[in-house]
Amino acid sequence: MTSLVPQIQKVGVVGAGQMGNGIAHVFALTGYNVVLSDLEQSALDAAMETIRGNLGRQVRKEMISEAECEAALARIQCATDLDAFSDVNLVVEAAAEREDLKKKIFASLLPIVPESAILTSNTSSISITRLASSTDRPEKFMGLHFMNPVPVMRLVELIRGIATDEATYSTMKAVVASLGKEAASAEDFPAFIVNRVLVPMINEAVYTLYEGVGTVESIDKAMKLGANHPMGPLELADFIGLDTCLAIMNVLHDGLADTKYRPCPLMVKYVEAGWLGRKAGRGFYDYRGAEPVPTR
Ligand code: NAD
Repeated sequence: MTSLVPQIQKVGVVGAGQMGNGIAHVFALTGYNVVLSDLEQSALDAAMETIRGNLGRQVRKEMISEAECEAALARIQCATDLDAFSDVNLVVEAAAEREDLKKKIFASLLPIVPESAILTSNTSSISITRLASSTDRPEKFMGLHFMNPVPVMRLVELIRGIATDEATYSTMKAVVASLGKEAASAEDFPAFIVNRVLVPMINEAVYTLYEGVGTVESIDKAMKLGANHPMGPLELADFIGLDTCLAIMNVLHDGLADTKYRPCPLMVKYVEAGWLGRKAGRGFYDYRGAEPVPTR
């Protein structure tokens, strides 16, 4: 494994959902100390259980040793209080995909984190320049966009805001390399690269379902066998979270003002129903039984 970036001793991760727990996992396994925060202790307990399970799987596959697994777990501190961020060198914000929420989180962090700390957001689509300009250090602010599931996926998108300085960019590039991942740089435009291409495809798959062109099963089968995608688009939407997919479509629609990004009304309906995908137990598939069953 590559060596740690010396100026980063402790990483603060905000939000312990599916992305936050994966981000804490990879930083801790690399050797960084991590503080992982969420609103409720129950979310942190669930995140630690997931991290323990995922590290255990890596041990069983002989990718890491039992000792490395234990050492990684020991490096993660959980906190419901942002005071634990007083000595972090890097913040990775991974709370829900809402601009107001993210700005509020950074505003609460600013009086606590050291002046030298780099601030990053794992946002899938929101303007890094806008988030950065709401802080006291736009030059030390970047987009650090991990892919889901974080321990498995090799790519991290690096997004510079208009004010991000070179030192911050090169430090974050080195951090990504230290995690054993590859960086791709994207300009700060709505949804960057991966989601600019991927999420409109998912939205189109939902339109295909909405218009009755195919069933959930036939759409996923068609794209798996016909386009060699490892997951069908509806299965992938459930995996990402339909709330996140909808938030990204809204950012594209608002930010690029093009009707081709209009979110499918069926996706809106699923989100309104709380059928957010895997994390809610139900989305385009119902995950509550032994096998996923299409919901339409
Ligand atoms: P999630 O719903 O699984 O988790 C979000 C977590 O944030 C929840 O545990 C919630 O309790 C917590 N949270 C909300 N407000 C908070 C606050 N004020 N302080 C601390 N924690 C708070 O969502 P997710 O899928 O992990 O997505 C998180 C971020 O990562 C979003 O910005 C999303 O766009 C981005 N992202 C998601 C994916 C994906 O595939 N799901 C991929 C890349 C990036």
